[in-house]
Amino acid sequence: LPNEFEIARPVMQQIEEGGYQAYFVGGSVRDTILGLPIHDVDIASSAYPQEIKQIFKKTVDTGIEHGTVMVIYNKKGYEITTFRTESGYQDYRRPDKVEFVRSLDEDLKRRDFTINAFAMRENGEVTDLFNGLEDLQKRLIRAVGNPSERFNEDALRMMRAVRFASKLDFDIEEKTMDAIKENSHLLDKIAVERIYTEFVKMMMANRPKQGISDMLNTDMYKYVPVFGKYQKQLESITEVDNLSLLDEIEVWSFIAFNFAMSREKINSMLKEWKASNDIIKNTQQCVEAVNNIKQGQLDKWAMYQTGEDLLIKANHIANLYGFAQNESELISKYESLTIKDKKEMAINGGDLIKSGVVKPGPEMGKILFKLEKSLVCNQIENDKESLLKAAKNF
Ligand code: ATP
Ligand code: MG
Repeated sequence: LPNEFEIARPVMQQIEEGGYQAYFVGGSVRDTILGLPIHDVDIASSAYPQEIKQIFKKTVDTGIEHGTVMVIYNKKGYEITTFRTESGYQDYRRPDKVEFVRSLDEDLKRRDFTINAFAMRENGEVTDLFNGLEDLQKRLIRAVGNPSERFNEDALRMMRAVRFASKLDFDIEEKTMDAIKENSHLLDKIAVERIYTEFVKMMMANRPKQGISDMLNTDMYKYVPVFGKYQKQLESITEVDNLSLLDEIEVWSFIAFNFAMSREKINSMLKEWKASNDIIKNTQQCVEAVNNIKQGQLDKWAMYQTGEDLLIKANHIANLYGFAQNESELISKYESLTIKDKKEMAINGGDLIKSGVVKPGPEMGKILFKLEKSLVCNQIENDKESLLKAAKNF
C-alpha cells in the first residue's frame, strides 16, 4: 500500500480496537487500484464523532455537523467521517438532512460513481458493492444506482462525471450519459463556486477536450455561466492539439483567449463565475500577453508589466496555437530587463523632492512612472545621478 495508507494504519487500528469499523474510502482507494499517485486519504468509520473524540487524545472539529473529526496522530491530521446517509435534496443540491449510520453499505450507497464507492480496510481488503472494479477495467464512469435519481439529488454530480472522465481518461457509461443529457438543465440550481471547482479540475486533467465535448453533447455548457453564448468557440477547443493547462490562470486565460475576449469581457465572464479578483486580474494580464506574443508586440515594457510567471503561462497558451516563443529565450530576455520591479529603482519620491525636482503631489507620480518606463526600455542607467538628470529633463 502507498505510504499515505501505511502511516494511517495505526489510526485505523485504534478505531477498530475501540470496537468500531474504519475504512479508507473515496478517490485515494480508486487511484491506488489504478496505480495513480494519491494526495490525501479519506477515512470513514462506524464510530460517531463523539466516539472518535473519546478514542484519540488530540482531535479538531473540522466538520462535525457532517460527521467529520480530524484526528492528530504523529503530528499529522486525519479526517475521519462517520458513515452517513443523506436525504432531502429538495433543491437539487446538498441534502437537507445528514444522518449518521453504523452501516458501511449505507455510506457507500450515497456516493456518486461506482469507482468512487470502494472501501478498503487497513489490511488492503477492498469492499466493492457496485462492481466498481469491473468499471475500472472497462474504464467507465457509472452512477451508483439510478443515474437520473442521483443527478436529481445533486446536480453537481454531472459535472463530476465529466471531471473524472477527463482525469482518468474514462468514458461515461451510456445510461449515465443519457441521464446527464436529460438533466443537464439542473446544473443551474447549483452554486457557481461548486461548478467552478469541478470545471477547473476538469480542464487541468488529462482529457480536457473530452470534457468540453461532453459538456457540449449534453448541453451542460448552456447551464454554466456565460458559456451558452460561445458554442462555436467551445467547439473549436476540441480541435486544439496537445491541450494541457497547468493551473487555474492558464485555464481561464485559455478560455478567454479562445473566446477572443477583451479585458472588460474577461472581467464580466469571471465575475459571473465568481472568480477571485486576483484570478481576474492575472487572467486579464495573461491574455494581454498572449495577444502581444501573437502580434509580435511583446516589447520590454510589456514583459516587465506582465512579470515572469504570467509570461511563461502566456507562452504556454501561445504554444497551443503555434505562435509561442522559445521558452528559455523568452526567460533570458525577461531576466535581462534592467529592473523587474519598481522597488529596484535607484531613486524614490523622497529623493526627487529632496533634490528639488518636484513638489509632493500627482506630478511626482508621473515623473516616477516616466523614469520607470525609461529604465525598463534601457534609455537610462539605474543609478541616482542618471535618474535625477533624466527627471530634471522631463
Ligand atoms: P480527487 O482525487 O479529485 O480528490 P475524489 O474521488 O477523492 O477525487 P472528492 O471530491 O475528494 O473526490 O470526494 C471524495 C469522495 O466523496 C468521492 O470519491 C465520493 O465517494 C464522495 N463524493 C464527493 N462528492 C460527492 C457528491 N457530490 N455526491 C456523492 N458522492 C460524493
Ligand atoms: Mg479527494
